[in-house]
Amino acid sequence: MKTTLEYAQQLDQQDALRKYRDQFYFPQHEGKNCLYFCGNSLGLQAKTTRSYIEKELLHWEKEGVEGHFRGDMPWKDYHHFFSVQAAKIVGAKPEEIVIMNTLTANLHFLLVSFYRPTKQRFKVLMEGGAFPSDQYAIETQVKFHGYDPEEAIIEVEPRAGEETLRTEDILSKIEEHKNELALVMFGGVNYYTGQYFDLKSITKAGQKVGAVVGYDLAHAAGNVPVQLHDWNVDFAVWCTYKYLNSGPGGPGGVFVHERHGKNPDLPRFAGWWGHNEDERFLMKKGFQPMPGAAGWQLSNAQVFSMAAHKASLDIFDEVGMETLRQKSEQLTAYMVFLIEDLNQKGHQFNVITPTNPAERGCQLSILTDENGKALHEYLTKNGVVSDWREPNVIRVAPVPMYNSFEDVYHFVRLLAEV
Ligand SMILES: *Cc1c(COP(=O)(O)O)cnc(C)c1O
Repeated sequence: MKTTLEYAQQLDQQDALRKYRDQFYFPQHEGKNCLYFCGNSLGLQAKTTRSYIEKELLHWEKEGVEGHFRGDMPWKDYHHFFSVQAAKIVGAKPEEIVIMNTLTANLHFLLVSFYRPTKQRFKVLMEGGAFPSDQYAIETQVKFHGYDPEEAIIEVEPRAGEETLRTEDILSKIEEHKNELALVMFGGVNYYTGQYFDLKSITKAGQKVGAVVGYDLAHAAGNVPVQLHDWNVDFAVWCTYKYLNSGPGGPGGVFVHERHGKNPDLPRFAGWWGHNEDERFLMKKGFQPMPGAAGWQLSNAQVFSMAAHKASLDIFDEVGMETLRQKSEQLTAYMVFLIEDLNQKGHQFNVITPTNPAERGCQLSILTDENGKALHEYLTKNGVVSDWREPNVIRVAPVPMYNSFEDVYHFVRLLAEV
């Protein structure tokens, strides 16, 4: 790899995904595209999104309530139009997937089924520094069941002097609490460090000691390849507005392994949309869950936000996770290379994200010195959209779908200027 602009432009020329950049709207800075590195927080809008939402507006305009039953995408079946494409993104079977509600709400609904503590087994193992919403969900679930979060929640922390977790430490924590663990609940990719955990090994180890294993894939879905079905994961949830570009507050994704989807006796909090759809409109007493993840639905589809998600899924389907990941590994490796080059020239940018591609997605978290905040402000003034996290981390996500090698080049050039 080389540190020149020409080299970055050459990589862009060879990029199999280069045409997709033009299919997204970039916020503008002084008449040019921003250097947008916040797709880990809110993905950009695909130019097709508007027409997908307008289609549903028009359908409503023309058909009123009949829109539920007419057209090529009748609203009563709307959730069916997602499972095949969403399943490919997380390595699942279509019946193991449903798109509904939002992320934290879904986490709670799945915990109703999958966190069922007993006096003997009541503990939950999490990564230390999990996203606050996940911490609050687990804390309040534990309390709801009458246990003390201090005792019940076990957090795995990095070793002294380290920033990320070692898989061996996660596995030995599982072993240490093996008789009391009810649940292992991890983020797939940690939002702060960008570390991609070894979900296959964690799943195996957790289930071996008799715990249920579930993941929050908010920072993993559409970012790293996961194989939820083959890894035998019990359940997972994710949001669609980060890497999946489906707009603010976009709908949530849910995975329930088919082993559980086949079990109508699993306790759950039900609604009419999870009821056997052949009889849904008979309005009868007695809940009979649909088989699969669909049996966890509560309400009829949020059509407008799901329309935006469909626009995005159609693009992901065309590109494919494998191709996307290939570019992603290369794009982020290029950023690592340029930052290491700066460090050799006397800068001190400490990338805390593992640089091994198998242990990261596209995001890099850069630990700065005491001038970090000023650095972030400088970047912002110069058209970079990145994310500042107290006390001193800048998170940057070169997103393979729409970021270019030249974006990465200009970003690191700005770092060098400070
Ligand atoms: C982004 C994110 C959330 C946000 O939750 P919402 O319910 O969508 O607001 C929760 N957990 C994780 C791990 C996240 O990254």
